[in-house]
Formats: sequence, structure tokens, C-alpha cells
Amino acid sequence: MRVVRTIADLRALLRTHREQGQRIGFVPTMGFLHEGHGALIRQSAARCDATVVSIFVNPDQFGPGEDLANYPRDLERDQGLCLETGANVLFIPEVSEIYPTGFQTHVEPGRLAEPLCGQFRPGHFRGVATVVAKLFHIVQPDLAFFGQKDYQQAVVIRRMVRDLNMPVDVVVVPTIREADGLALSSRNAYLKPEERTRALALSLGLLAAKAAFDAGERSTARLLELAQAPLQQVDDLQYLELVDAQTLEAHDGTVDRTVALCVAAYVGTTRLIDNVVLSPSPEGAGLNVSLSPQAS
Ligand code: AMP
Repeated sequence: MRVVRTIADLRALLRTHREQGQRIGFVPTMGFLHEGHGALIRQSAARCDATVVSIFVNPDQFGPGEDLANYPRDLERDQGLCLETGANVLFIPEVSEIYPTGFQTHVEPGRLAEPLCGQFRPGHFRGVATVVAKLFHIVQPDLAFFGQKDYQQAVVIRRMVRDLNMPVDVVVVPTIREADGLALSSRNAYLKPEERTRALALSLGLLAAKAAFDAGERSTARLLELAQAPLQQVDDLQYLELVDAQTLEAHDGTVDRTVALCVAAYVGTTRLIDNVVLSPSPEGAGLNVSLSPQAS
């Protein structure tokens, strides 16, 4: 595995892969890697000839007062996980490499960036879309892998790729969870033991709603009630919403299409998000089907 820190070096290295007709897979991350990232890297390694992983804590997607300065880092461990899961190239640029002096051009996502996390993190998805667009231009991957864990992010990126005619296929990988259900997240490292117990409220509620849905429950109100029940454990519930899986518009009444049940909450000072996708038709259950390029 090669570790590369500049855009010029990365381009030179990837040119040789491309000249050999290799299919390039790309997994953008902010580091402090865990098995959720590992699942993305493994999928890329299985489907592509060369896998590039980037580690870049993007200042442009953090708001004032968010955890940019404290974001957990462990490059040595990250390198081990990348190697173990099949990455071929690890790209670790400095902030000045990605945002040199004078930088001023952004990608502005549309309506999809407004609900859910968009209400609480103004400018977040603009920062995400911009850095992902830049990384796509730098890496020029054939396939790019994102986690369902960040559902709105995946939807925003898919839309950007379509709207701006980027020649990359976006693959969304299901959320990897701890044995007890908690979605893996780099931010779980912030949780004190007592908070870790209470953090389970997010997945407990979502998975209870999903179990009810799988058993035939189709009432939005009832599904929200089930997901809400454990959430008195959290310190600040930002949102719990059932939305159309593609438009992210609030859905009510009977669930007659693929929807996403999404939650964001603070446990202590840690902001956690999670979601489940509920699809009345079995073939719509995977995010890749519900968000296929033909879909909208
Ligand atoms: P991050 O480093 O948090 O920016 O995440 C990098 C990528 O890993 C994003 O596409 C995330 O959605 C994905 N990811 C993070 N946590 C998980 C998880 N538990 N399961 C699957 N993918 C994940």
C-alpha cells in the first residue's frame, strides 16, 4: 500500500493504474477508521482493481462550535486497517493541499441538503459536496463507496453526481453496527461508558420500528412512536423523521413507498446520527435500488 500526500503524486501514481486499464475504487473518509469504513474498503477491493482511501478532516463541513479541533485521529491504526481491508493507496493531504490560499469555489447542493441534518448544520452539505467533488476530480474513480450510516450525505452526493455529470458510480454500503446495534462511528470514541449505554437508544428505536415494519406495520405514526420510545434516554433529540427515501420530504399516513427513518441526537456532548430504510417491496430494500440513477 502506498501512502501519498500530494495531489501531484497521487495523479502520477493513478495514471499508471489507469494506463493498465484498471478500475479504480475510491473511499473518502475523515479517518479514525473502524469496521464501517472497513466494509466500504472491502467492497471496493472486491469490485475494483485498485482502491484509493482518502483521510481528510474537511474543515469546510464543520460549523462553528462543532468538533473539528477535537476530531479523533490515529493515522497509524488507520494505515493498519487500510492495509488489512485491501486498500492500495492511502491519500492523506494537508488542508493547504486541498484548500490553497485563494480558494473560493463551492458546490451548492439544493433542496436535499435542507431537511434533517441540514436544519441543524447549516453549510455542512455544501462543505461535503465541495470536498467530494474535489476528491472525485483528483482521484477520478470509476466507483466511489459511501455508507448508508450518513444517509442524507449519500443522497446529496448521488444527486450531485447526476446533476454535474460526474463519471462515477456511487455505491452505498449498509450500516455496520456493534453487536448490540449501535452504528459504528468515529464519534463513538467520545462517549463515556454511561453515555455509550444511553447511545443505544437511537438504534434500539430504529430497529424496533424496522422489526414492526417487517412484520407488516405501515402506519407512519406508529413507526415513529416505536422509534421514539427509547429516546428519552438521550440528552437532546434533534430530529426523528420518516422521510421519502429519495426526496427526503416528510412522509405521513401509510408507508406505501421506500422511506428512511432518520434520527439525530446528542448524548452528552456527542452528536450521533442513525437511520433505517424501510421498503414495502423487497427489491426496494437496498439503498442502491431505491436511489438508482434512473429513479429520479
Ligand atoms: P467518515 O469518516 O465518518 O466521514 O465516514 C466515511 C465514510 O464511511 C462515509 O461514507 C460514511 O457513511 C461511512 N461510514 C461511517 N460509519 C459507517 C458505518 N457504521 N457503516 C457503514 N459505513 C459507515
